Amino acid sequence: LYLEEFHTGQPVTGQVFDIKKFAIHDGPGIRTTVFLTGCPLACWWCHNPECNLPNGQDTKQSAKKMTVRQVMTEIEKDFLFYDESGGGVTFSGGEPMLQPEFLEQMLENCRNRGIQTAVDTSGQVEWDDIERIGPLTDLWLYDLKLIDPNQHLEYTGITNSLIVDNLTRIVDNGWNVRIRVPLIPGYTDTVENLEALAAFVHGLPVQPPVDLLPFNLFYSSKYERLKIENKLGKLTSHTPDQLAACKAIFETQSLEVKV
Ligand code: SF4
Repeated sequence: LYLEEFHTGQPVTGQVFDIKKFAIHDGPGIRTTVFLTGCPLACWWCHNPECNLPNGQDTKQSAKKMTVRQVMTEIEKDFLFYDESGGGVTFSGGEPMLQPEFLEQMLENCRNRGIQTAVDTSGQVEWDDIERIGPLTDLWLYDLKLIDPNQHLEYTGITNSLIVDNLTRIVDNGWNVRIRVPLIPGYTDTVENLEALAAFVHGLPVQPPVDLLPFNLFYSSKYERLKIENKLGKLTSHTPDQLAACKAIFETQSLEVKV
């Protein structure tokens, strides 16, 4: 029996937007990434804006209601790759923590089968849900975008006080976490913002490693295809020197940082 049925007698379902196989940028090793729909933020640079589209809008890739068993079946197909590469499964979105019951069941089933897990979160969720999920995941991938609350409000639709508080509490709990900073040219990659982010991470009781995520140019074609307003305008990707300069800001604070 799968745990969902043991606990409730009923299949637990989640709204799954996509399942990506052989992902190599969503945590250690080779991974399967399960994308769940919905997000409390509306970042101007969202790489998965279709996760938040109203029902019925044609994305050519609609969300599907799937049971824990159905998703586990997909995950288990690649068990050998996880084992050999030190990989596992990442739950992303959107914001996977918006479906805590489904996420909890998925994580429990993965743990029972010896599959490593990661949860990629915006941090804009209630602490009660984080406390419920924290002991079940092997790794948090925690997004930090902008340290200035007003800029955060302007570019994501929400201020960052809960996000900052939750990260501090996750670190206090001793859970394994990697911080992920998307480098959006002219928005999050300013010296002022990166220095403030590095100082904040340096000030945590334990300093998690930081991953800097370069801007993905596929962004604009996706917005055109989905007919969503592109508020960022036309951006160009970072040069290797620019990425090295961003990395150096975190190294100055003696942080472990990867691009
Ligand atoms: S937090 Fe992530 S998924 Fe949510 S809107 Fe921002 S970029 Fe998109």
